[in-house]
Amino acid sequence: RAKTDGRGCYRFFAPAMDTDVRLQRAFELQLREALPRREFELHYQPIVDLSTCRPCAVEALVRWRHPEHGLIPPDKFIPVAEEIGLIGPLGEWILATACRTAAEWPSDIRLAVNLSAKQVVGGDLVEVVRRALADTGLPAGRLELEITESVLLQKDHDSLAVLHGLTALGVHVVLDDFGTGYSSLSYLQLFPFSKIKIDRTFVAELTTRADCAAIVSSVTTLARALAMSTTAEGVETWDQVALLRAAGCREAQGWLFGRPVPAAALSFEPTAACAPAAA
Ligand code: C2E
Ligand code: MG
Ligand code: MG
Ligand code: MG
Repeated sequence: RAKTDGRGCYRFFAPAMDTDVRLQRAFELQLREALPRREFELHYQPIVDLSTCRPCAVEALVRWRHPEHGLIPPDKFIPVAEEIGLIGPLGEWILATACRTAAEWPSDIRLAVNLSAKQVVGGDLVEVVRRALADTGLPAGRLELEITESVLLQKDHDSLAVLHGLTALGVHVVLDDFGTGYSSLSYLQLFPFSKIKIDRTFVAELTTRADCAAIVSSVTTLARALAMSTTAEGVETWDQVALLRAAGCREAQGWLFGRPVPAAALSFEPTAACAPAAA
């Protein structure tokens, strides 16, 4: 870029760019070291069946325990890991670690693992998943792989073949953060999803905005018509639960039922009294 910019322009912006670039490089270097230094950890958040408020699945969420900055959330480093080509090995570690942990859970508890778009296209994802299941003994039917709409938008027809390869293994493919991306409804027909996760932006305003309630019940109805189930994300209040039940949504995840915690702190008991819809 320096070559195409005018020389004066380049020199004018050089100091600020230098600092930014240096900080970015330092962050990338530390991120590369984080895997061998075992600085990543997985936290686990329950997903409950709304009829019983008992966990039916648990989502693995990665964090980076940085030696100086403390716990760094995934939104801050996953995009960088994708850019520097680290998402392959990091994603493999996440899958293997989560599957090994989940293999110890009661057999009716499923494991949900997030995949980045870069893992789905241009890697050997089906083989990585097959190996993680074989190495840990977790039955394929207990694994749910969550992808976002960004995967579907990749102008690469491979993603469909990869998702079919995954379902052929017996794992479930779930569409995460539904409603926030730009994909068309026809993707719901084209791709083999078993479940749709309704993004928490819709859940957050469920009790205050009639249009959010309309979207949630429409998505739930649409999902059922296509033989898929729905999970509501970011559920924080019993009022939201009442509306979700009324909308026909079967599963929910959110602080009301439990925050993401280390594996050892995970409980499979109902995390809160299962308040009736009227409460
Ligand atoms: P996501 O898959 O949609 O995960 C749900 C996010 O919502 C998590 O944030 C979770 O902590 C947060 N959350 C759960 N319940 C509530 C609630 O009641 N209220 C609010 N305000 N938030 C809630 P987190 O852990 O920071 O993860 C953010 C995103 O990073 C995830 O969104 C996912 O897209 C990505 N991510 C997390 N772990 C992984 C991973 O292992 N691999 C990849 N590729 N991406 C990951
Ligand atoms: Mg997710
Ligand atoms: Mg989500
Ligand atoms: Mg998200």
